[in-house]
Amino acid sequence: MGLSRLYLVNPKQFPDAEADTRATGAVDLLKQAKVLATLQEALVETVFVIGLSARQRDLGPEIGLPRPMVVKLLTAAAEGEVALVFGNETVGLSNDELQQCHAAVTIPTNPAFTSLNLGSAVQVLSYELRMAAYAEEPPVANAVVTPFVSPSATHNEVEGLYEHLQVVMSATGFYNPGQPGRLMPKLRRLFGRARLERDEVNILRGVLAATQQQTGHGTRKP
Ligand code: SAH
Repeated sequence: MGLSRLYLVNPKQFPDAEADTRATGAVDLLKQAKVLATLQEALVETVFVIGLSARQRDLGPEIGLPRPMVVKLLTAAAEGEVALVFGNETVGLSNDELQQCHAAVTIPTNPAFTSLNLGSAVQVLSYELRMAAYAEEPPVANAVVTPFVSPSATHNEVEGLYEHLQVVMSATGFYNPGQPGRLMPKLRRLFGRARLERDEVNILRGVLAATQQQTGHGTRKP
């Protein structure tokens, strides 16, 4: 998700072969991780800190939802270091640790099952941060390229197709210009929804032209 600075507070075991295995392509993040004895030491340079807690506490900082809170975090990041603080799998964050945070976030879940895996909680917040940071248009590794794509057809090209359709449909008796009904509006809606490409217009007009040649019906309009 583009985050790179991991701080581990008093880890049970680190470095750890199993952690390296689980990190697969992200071992560099573990290698760069800073190990500290207390949360306080990890937060010395920060100007804004959000603690993640599955449980709401009586005496704790302001609680918010992930989406608006990451916006606050990003805003504060313009002024200095910011941090997200997560607890461990067994005991989570202590009240004392949560009180070192400016704000708390609880990820909404089924009320009967509030405690997510640490990794899942980290992912939800990292994703929200990324979406907020890139205004909902995050850069992707491989731009999606549709095979066989051709430029969008212009208004004029699509109008040419409609005219051509009308000529062939009239000549074959499928369409009666005297009683047009809803046929053309329906076809316009269908092709409008498809947002035709130039190649597609050419294919459809090719089919119409071939039909005209076979049946000797109608003259192809430009
Ligand atoms: N048994 C612990 C749960 C630990 S889950 C407890 O009751 O606190 C590990 C960490 O993931 C938590 O400390 C918290 O930082 C995060 N987390 C899990 N579920 C969460 C939720 N619904 N909202 C916010 N953070 C959550």
